[in-house]
Amino acid sequence: MQKQKIKEKIDKSIEQTKEAVTKKRRDGSLGYLIVFLIMLAFIVGRAFYQRADNPQSAEAGAPVVELSFSGILDATENKQISTMEIQGNTATGTLSDGAKYKATIAYDPELLSKIAASGAAVKIDNSKSWTDHLGTWVPILMGILFIWWIFRGIRGAGAGGLGRISQYNPTKITTGKTKTTFADVAGIESEKKEVMEIVDFLKNPKKFQDLGARVPRGILLSGEPGTGKTLLARAIAGEANVPFFATSGSDFSGIIVGLGVAKIKEIFEMAKRNAPCILFIDEIDAIGQRRSQHSFNDQDREQTLNQLLIEMDGFQNDNGIIVIGATNRPDMLDTALLRPGRFDRQVYIELPDLAGRREILNLYAKKMKIAKAVNLQDIARGTTGFSGADLENLLNEAALHAAGANRKEIAKEDLEEARDKTLMGPRKNRKMRAEDIRLTAYHEAGHAFVSVHYRDLTDPIHKATIIPRGRSLGMVQHLPIDDKVSLTVAEVRAKLAILMAGRAAEEIFFGADKITTGAEGDIAAATRLTRYAITVAGLSRKIGLPAINQVMAFGMRAALENASEKTAEAVDAEVKSWMNAAHDDASKILSRGRRVVKRLADELLKRETLTREEIEEIVLGKKKVGSRR
Ligand code: ADP
Ligand code: ZN
Repeated sequence: MQKQKIKEKIDKSIEQTKEAVTKKRRDGSLGYLIVFLIMLAFIVGRAFYQRADNPQSAEAGAPVVELSFSGILDATENKQISTMEIQGNTATGTLSDGAKYKATIAYDPELLSKIAASGAAVKIDNSKSWTDHLGTWVPILMGILFIWWIFRGIRGAGAGGLGRISQYNPTKITTGKTKTTFADVAGIESEKKEVMEIVDFLKNPKKFQDLGARVPRGILLSGEPGTGKTLLARAIAGEANVPFFATSGSDFSGIIVGLGVAKIKEIFEMAKRNAPCILFIDEIDAIGQRRSQHSFNDQDREQTLNQLLIEMDGFQNDNGIIVIGATNRPDMLDTALLRPGRFDRQVYIELPDLAGRREILNLYAKKMKIAKAVNLQDIARGTTGFSGADLENLLNEAALHAAGANRKEIAKEDLEEARDKTLMGPRKNRKMRAEDIRLTAYHEAGHAFVSVHYRDLTDPIHKATIIPRGRSLGMVQHLPIDDKVSLTVAEVRAKLAILMAGRAAEEIFFGADKITTGAEGDIAAATRLTRYAITVAGLSRKIGLPAINQVMAFGMRAALENASEKTAEAVDAEVKSWMNAAHDDASKILSRGRRVVKRLADELLKRETLTREEIEEIVLGKKKVGSRR
């Protein structure tokens, strides 16, 4: 019964939204028509005005002689001009015989002084009548305005591009009861707890009001894309069994000025009709960007933001509407949005940690057929930095790969393949020259050997391969045991040596003149790590403790901040010294182990991929030398 009612309510509001949207659409094209008509009116009007203007100057009865420019020059020479009045490039006046003349002249000071010298009374009228100005400027202004309007539309339409200008994006509202619950959200337990209270409130607003408790009106969910912000918002609605309205901030920028305001009003109207409910605004940064960061034409957005604030300030807690905003750029938001009574509760959803990834994998693995031999913990370990969406995608890819291989269950290799594909791009079927393959094998063997050497200081190897993928010719992957938060200076040095080991191996086995660009990625990574250690983490005794922050511009490090030129030079020298030391270290280790490195390379050439166990067996022998992990 109750449910039926709610469904009717929702259906009604969907209808109303649709109606409003189509009505607006008509208004939209009407707007264009009006602009077009006004412009047309001005152009036509101006033409008439000019036509009426011309005979007007010929009043005064006396016949008017039309003189050419050379005619004027001749008349000047012969001192036949008695008066001349110049307006723009039209000269009118009387000749010495009393006849009126009219001529088009070039505005030339020299000519004017000549005429004046000939004894004529010259009067220059620079002022145009205001109607004249109107006639010239209004159409131009209208044109500019119109073009500006169109461009705004293009910018607003974003990826939709030109095609969307004409069709005017309606507020997309997804609505309805959702079956999603907290059980569908894995790995973010603490975030779930933080929003539990909201669920309680939506279920029983009365209880909270009786207590006089202030319940947040807005929650801001921030976090990387794919961390489950939408999912969590939906689950809140599902848990509380209230309708869920979803829209996106990017839908509020239209080409019609004032549209955003109207749309905000509209969705809040709808929310009020359906309260208690959740109103979810994805990409809220699209409307709520800090004002100082606005570019020139963002008055419209500011109005939209103001309207949002007005709506949020306007409704009382007993309305039972919870607005949930989502963003991956909370730092960009206007602080006005975060004030009490607005989005005063902030929940930051981190990328899942090891345990979180394990839970998310478990959740989706339950719905799939996965071979018993597969260890999900290993997959979780090898997916640092993956979001929930990435993990779901990984399992999907694996399933596709398994299907492609006609397997009944998803095997370990399917997951490996899926993971490598997500990490590095699809496998390359590049045909490599035999010597390139040989060089790659030694390069990777170098990385692997030094990794094993430093096994007590760094994450264990996962595997080494010479199968090219993405931009890399081969790789050695490491598996972080846990989510490491800091590194000791010795660990940094070890990591650097491992990174430099590829290039070092090329030198040792092929000679200094045969080294390749293949170490590009290693060198970039090593430079980054060294710079970080020296300028941010204060690990260098030479540079000392002061952080030398690098100014960011467009997401790239642009300049050294708070560093004198001298310091900057010292930093450069220290970076070089650390990297050289790492390179020397790697070279020494490899030279001592030449024979083993060669065996590793040979095995790689034979089998293309070596697992951690296989590598350790070759390097350490059967009797595995104990490692602390
Ligand atoms: P966001 O809104 O943060 O960009 P979404 O909520 O749209 O991310 O996540 C996309 C999809 O990824 C979800 O629909 C869900 O299938 C999956 N996902 C993301 N995070 C999780 C999680 N913590 N638990 C389960 N699934 C998740
Ligand atoms: Zn390398």
